[in-house]
Amino acid sequence: MEAKHYRARVAHFRSGFASKAEAFEYIDDAVLSLENGRVQQLVPASEAFKQGLNPSTVIDKQGALIFPGLIDAHVHAPQLNIIGSYGEQLLEWLNTYTFPAESAFASVEYALEKNRQFLHSLLRHGTTTAVVFSTSHRHACAQLFELALEKKMRIIAGKVLMNRNAPAALNDHETGIADTRKLIEQYHQRGRLGYAVTPRFAGTSTPEQLQRAGQLVDDYPGLWVHTHLSENKAEIDWTLGLFPEASDYLDCYERYGLHTAKSIFAHCIHLTDSERQRIADMGSTVAFCPSSNLFLGSGLLNLKQLQAMGIHYAPGSDVGAGTSLSMFRTLADAYKVTQLQQHSYSSLEALYDVTLGAATSLRLDQYIGNFEKGKEADFIVLDARSHRCLSTRVSHCRTIQEELFAYITMADDRLVQETHTMGECVYTQQGNRH
Ligand SMILES: [Zn+2]
Repeated sequence: MEAKHYRARVAHFRSGFASKAEAFEYIDDAVLSLENGRVQQLVPASEAFKQGLNPSTVIDKQGALIFPGLIDAHVHAPQLNIIGSYGEQLLEWLNTYTFPAESAFASVEYALEKNRQFLHSLLRHGTTTAVVFSTSHRHACAQLFELALEKKMRIIAGKVLMNRNAPAALNDHETGIADTRKLIEQYHQRGRLGYAVTPRFAGTSTPEQLQRAGQLVDDYPGLWVHTHLSENKAEIDWTLGLFPEASDYLDCYERYGLHTAKSIFAHCIHLTDSERQRIADMGSTVAFCPSSNLFLGSGLLNLKQLQAMGIHYAPGSDVGAGTSLSMFRTLADAYKVTQLQQHSYSSLEALYDVTLGAATSLRLDQYIGNFEKGKEADFIVLDARSHRCLSTRVSHCRTIQEELFAYITMADDRLVQETHTMGECVYTQQGNRH
């Protein structure tokens, strides 16, 4: 593959700095050079031309802002159809909307169409890496991986494990563990893919299924664990009733070997001090899903407390309980959640957290997250011209920080002009390519 050189405004966060603000780098006239799908260098345009770069080979994106591909740490592939469903909290939401939507994935053709639509929608929103719940059907999870391979996306996913308190159409009592093993052998560490052992949450798996899931984590190195934890008070009470031997909710996973440094726990709103400390000690990750937490009335995550304890975290859209796949919309809700707790989540912190920060929490920072030489060239081209209100606001911004904060508060997929994975354009707003 030949080299490519993009000329644009470029922003990202460099590794190895003490604070997120110090890590921020912005070059208002830069050339980002790629080779074989990887970053070769990022320098001011004047320096690139001094090095002998032929201007006729440059792909001109001047005026636009190039930014690393966004990372969504928690999202459900089968739930696009139920975004914005009215009036329920977690447990009723699952029974009323989620389980019927996921049951429809029993059809191979339907699941394929929906999985394709899901990945295309991620790219349209500028998301190039995501940690994804599939359904409990093996074919649906396999399709997701196959489609992600085609688009060269970094997808960490797993088939949902659930063998109790689940409708018959989703109950994987007979096949759950064997299907998971097959998927791990077929897709884990293939190309850019990773497998996450994915119990929906403790309450829908028997202790035996959780124990066998933990055995898989032992059997195959490098697996992630992806599940939900401590989202809603009624859910916590219900779960503790199902696991009378567990000391708390986190212990329902710990006792079966499902709490590792690569565990990703969505929500974690109502943790006890002890649970929070054990997560900090393990180095596992909290997926912060503000849109979903507000929408289902689950509660406000205390982000400041997680930060003070050095707990790994990464924002997640949690679609379909979250109301948008846009990580900008997710960060706008995150800002409001912190404001309600007398704490302000800055634009630089927030954008760090959906790029290099999330990559670090997910143990992917050697591959993605910024434009350091050798990293995989996942990036987005942002331009507010398709979003009139945002473009008006941006024209009045005096600094890049102000502009980025306007993106966070107002942007959606209209801001994303192009999405590239491994140096290849896989989406353009104009062509709506997919
Ligand atoms: Zn979720």
